[in-house]
Amino acid sequence: MITLKTPLLEIRGIGPKFLDKLKHFKIETVKDLLWHFPFRYEDFSEVSKIIDLVVGQQATVQGVIQDIKVRKTWKRKLLLIEAIVEDETGKISAVWFNQRFLLAILKKGKLVSLAGKVAETKEGAISLSNPTYEFINQPTDYSLQATDEEKSVSDGQLTVDSLKHTGRIVPIYPETRGLTSKAFRYLIKPVLDDIKNIPDTLPNEVIKKYKILEINKAIHQMHFPEKIEDSREAKKRFAFEGLFYIQVVNLRERLRLSKQKANKISVDLKYVKKLLEKLPFELTHAQKKVLWDVLKDIGDSHPMNRLIQGDVGSGKTIVAVISAMIVADGNKSSAIMAPTEILANQHYQTFKKFFPDFNKGVGILTSSGAKIFYGDGLENIVKKPEFIKKISTGDVKIVFGTHSLIQKNVIFNNLALVVIDEQHRFGVKQRAQLISRESEFSAHFLSMSATPIPRTLTLTVFGDLDLSIVDELPRGRKEIITKIVAPENRDKAYAFIRGQVKKGRQVFVICPRIEPSQIEDVDPNTFFSEWQKWELKSVKEEYAKLSEKVFPDLKVEMLHGKLKVKEKEQIMEKFKNKEIDILVSTSVVEVGVDIPNATIMIIESAERFGLAQLYQFRGRVGRGEHQSFCLLFTEFKSQIIMKRLRSLVEAKNGFELAEEDLKIRGPGEFLGQSDSVAQTGIPDLAMKALQNPNLVMEARKAAEEIIKKDPELKNSPILLEQLEGFKKQVHLE
Ligand code: ADP
Ligand code: MG
Repeated sequence: MITLKTPLLEIRGIGPKFLDKLKHFKIETVKDLLWHFPFRYEDFSEVSKIIDLVVGQQATVQGVIQDIKVRKTWKRKLLLIEAIVEDETGKISAVWFNQRFLLAILKKGKLVSLAGKVAETKEGAISLSNPTYEFINQPTDYSLQATDEEKSVSDGQLTVDSLKHTGRIVPIYPETRGLTSKAFRYLIKPVLDDIKNIPDTLPNEVIKKYKILEINKAIHQMHFPEKIEDSREAKKRFAFEGLFYIQVVNLRERLRLSKQKANKISVDLKYVKKLLEKLPFELTHAQKKVLWDVLKDIGDSHPMNRLIQGDVGSGKTIVAVISAMIVADGNKSSAIMAPTEILANQHYQTFKKFFPDFNKGVGILTSSGAKIFYGDGLENIVKKPEFIKKISTGDVKIVFGTHSLIQKNVIFNNLALVVIDEQHRFGVKQRAQLISRESEFSAHFLSMSATPIPRTLTLTVFGDLDLSIVDELPRGRKEIITKIVAPENRDKAYAFIRGQVKKGRQVFVICPRIEPSQIEDVDPNTFFSEWQKWELKSVKEEYAKLSEKVFPDLKVEMLHGKLKVKEKEQIMEKFKNKEIDILVSTSVVEVGVDIPNATIMIIESAERFGLAQLYQFRGRVGRGEHQSFCLLFTEFKSQIIMKRLRSLVEAKNGFELAEEDLKIRGPGEFLGQSDSVAQTGIPDLAMKALQNPNLVMEARKAAEEIIKKDPELKNSPILLEQLEGFKKQVHLE
């Protein structure tokens, strides 16, 4: 009896050549094979009589092979196999290229089922070009030398009901060399027919309540649906399943944290008030509310696990800083991590500016060194080992830094609060590493992100975190004037930029590529119709053009991901110090860096970027007192592109755009460089389902119900086992 765990090696009819090729997809067991899902279907379900065929139609015909011939095409390059097939209404030719082995299979007199697109020949006759074929009800005696591929098309045991390649809705699979959809159907169908009673990982009550297909039906309908709706139902099941696992994992993680102990930080409200009075501004409502969320959390004896999301410039840093000061007031330490040195430094400098008399020790540790400040106006540059020692003795209570803070040798004295800024820049693993630095007391954990992420995604990918949103910008921010610039207005735009630079402002120019497009990047089939698509602006070309031709008198620099980290940081530092007027960059230009004097954001080939990304770029300007501008350059005038770009011009906040982007471009957009879709390990179907908020909410509800009743999953052993594998896959541990 075969089960999901049966190795394919043990299954008759799957030869070593197949096994080898299947390895390419990491398919080794029955489960792997059955979980290789089709990505689309072809509907050959209607079997037509030859007389009824219409040119252009997808059709299945069934008839007897009258003749089969091979000839060379006029240039003697291609081998053409032509079969004449006849049913009671007429004849049709079927043509294949370069598949000589067909001569051995498609013999005269055999009854075949052919599925493909009906074409018209030069002579005006109809023909099927490269159709899929299989035999009906007649065993074939393919020679012993037949390859796996040949066998896969000539297994011969078929009756009309068990057709797998024609006469039905036919699954199309992700393929690789020598492993076609046809081969997959050949492999999958018999396994599906043999396997009985696949145990369901979803609890029965969930299946019933949420009207989800049970696994056996789902897996059949996924591969060989009778109707297209059946395949949709099956997909829904697998999407739901993925979302459900994620939610169960999240909820169990929450449960685990809620049982851990953390330092309870008592909050002295008078002290909070005193701190706020030192600021040169009043907190916005949104900031106050979020600060309140955090203070409540850290006042609890279980660890906080919270994500603050807020638009660029909404003032998240100060919330973290005040929280750290309150922790310090209770004589405990805080670590505040940023993805880059510049950003860590910026936070540290701001801290000193706002709180010049803080005397419990604030410092910064990065790969380039360490500094400490004790509120006496003197900054001490110290050697790293000395600094690390001070961290461990509690002589520095608030530590800013980069990844350097997670080194093993950095041991905090009474670490009560860990903050990570721009958390999407840290990998999933680093994040996990930070949270799980276990001691008897876990630190409260706060992460911050300026990437507006749609709610369904937040609930899934960050579903173990509580969420606070800063949905308001400080008063007095001027709106950034955003314009779409057509190619004919480029010179005008350059004149405008020159004027702004003369007034002392600085400019970002963002391009989608580093290097100019190469011929290899270009698909010849679409080159002439979509040539503009290949005309992507590159940093190197734009840099050359701007620095040599357009603005030879200005200071132009370039920045991109191929530079070393140090070089990148030096350039950002120079830009910050106004030693650069125009910075041509790829999307690497730092998130979160505050350069109030940069007031112009130019985006080249703007159509190339997602809305959320464009929104991020724009957020790099508009941070100072001067009016800021965002110019979107595009060579395209298509309605769809214009509509998308205009929604950026009109957008009031990043979340709105994020929701829109999710609809247009799918969830991949939102998971930063370090969280590529592959790395999150979320199954494809679940990933796509993130575009369906109802399904996400249902999966969450179902997970809540199960966990509430049975937090240890004692009654769902199969689910529990499944989750262990799943957690490894999604890197949650
Ligand atoms: P982000 O949320 O993008 O990290 P920051 O914390 O860097 O934003 O804040 C952006 C700028 O706004 C900083 O210069 C900060 O000092 C300033 N800021 C923060 N809160 C306020 C406020 N309530 N009113 C005015 N300016 C503020
Ligand atoms: Mg920030």
